[in-house]
Amino acid sequence: MENVADFKEIVDVIKASGGEAFKRCFQCGLCDVVCPWNRVTDFSMRKIVRQATFGFTEIESEDIWRCTTCGRCPQQCPRDVRQIESGVALRRIATEYGVFPTPVKPIRTVRASLVGEGNPIGEQRKERADWAKGLSVNTFTEGMEILYFPGCYLSYDPRLKKVAAATADILNRAGVDFGILGSKENCCGESIRKTGDEEVFRRLARENIKTFIDNGVKKILVSSPHCYHTFKNEYPEFMVNFEVVHMSQYVFELIEKGRIELTGEYGKKVTYHDPCYLGRHNGIYDEPREALKKVPGLELNEMPESRVDSLCCGGGGGRIWMETPKGERFSDLRLEQAVGIGAEVLATSCPYCITNFEDSKLNLEQGEAIEIKDITEIIQEAL
Ligand code: SF4
Ligand code: SF4
Repeated sequence: MENVADFKEIVDVIKASGGEAFKRCFQCGLCDVVCPWNRVTDFSMRKIVRQATFGFTEIESEDIWRCTTCGRCPQQCPRDVRQIESGVALRRIATEYGVFPTPVKPIRTVRASLVGEGNPIGEQRKERADWAKGLSVNTFTEGMEILYFPGCYLSYDPRLKKVAAATADILNRAGVDFGILGSKENCCGESIRKTGDEEVFRRLARENIKTFIDNGVKKILVSSPHCYHTFKNEYPEFMVNFEVVHMSQYVFELIEKGRIELTGEYGKKVTYHDPCYLGRHNGIYDEPREALKKVPGLELNEMPESRVDSLCCGGGGGRIWMETPKGERFSDLRLEQAVGIGAEVLATSCPYCITNFEDSKLNLEQGEAIEIKDITEIIQEAL
């Protein structure tokens, strides 16, 4: 990356990926003011934009991998510089050249696992439906109302399998006609795309779309905001449109329609963390809160930086797979905010957020004082 031809190449690739907008930057620095990285280390999106404009990007630097695609700075930018899309373009170049700084190296294993087994965590495809054993969950067949797509973490991760089980329990008690695709389900591909690996994303997306079509899927219920985002906003690039609903929306609908009744007392102080891909990227702020407010005895309080200003947990943009040292984890700060307002439960609705908060809980001095819950787990307890 040291000669003029390469600088030109970088500029061309950035342009080809929609990075034309980099040029509009007038270096106001508003992005750096809101970026959560500046709470924990020196990082400047403004500088990345500047360097990219001239093709001076340091491809081997860890900085191009830091953005969690949280969506906070694009919201502030007065020049509509598309920081996320252009940042992904830089990662595409690094991916193409196979340049991964040490904290980013796990991406190579993730890629191999996605290609081989359809999930990023090194698990076997044939075990994808094991979470549902003994839970009265059927295989999806044509004509069913809803495909439940738990995604990779809820299918395999021991902590998150509890969320998948809570979801299946709620759906069964509401009498919802649903099924799962099990080993025919692939990772949605959202996060690998944000690491710049367009090829693997497209492969996963095409396989999923073919499976959905072959099985007559029309409506997809998801637990991860990342699945929600890519099915709703990115799969239409393949000329398909499925109806997509996130569980936080659907559970509220089930309550509103009287299909489930919340009778159990949940006498705890709860705060809700907006996942970036549910809130800022897709505008879903109210349904999760409204669902929680329906729980008898539950006291819902807001943290500083909620809704559109929500503090990212640090897991988006593929960061969930990269190494973030202690002292640089946003989830630690978020947990402190939750404890700071006296919450006994930090509720959220995203597998990455839950993974990061559970990790932070282990490291936080007052970690024992707070529980981490997906909202479906709270609703299940109140049934
Ligand atoms: S907020 Fe936008 S215009 Fe301002 S420095 Fe950042 S990218 Fe440039
Ligand atoms: S999208 Fe979020 S993490 Fe990425 S540079 Fe902007 S504020 Fe920082």
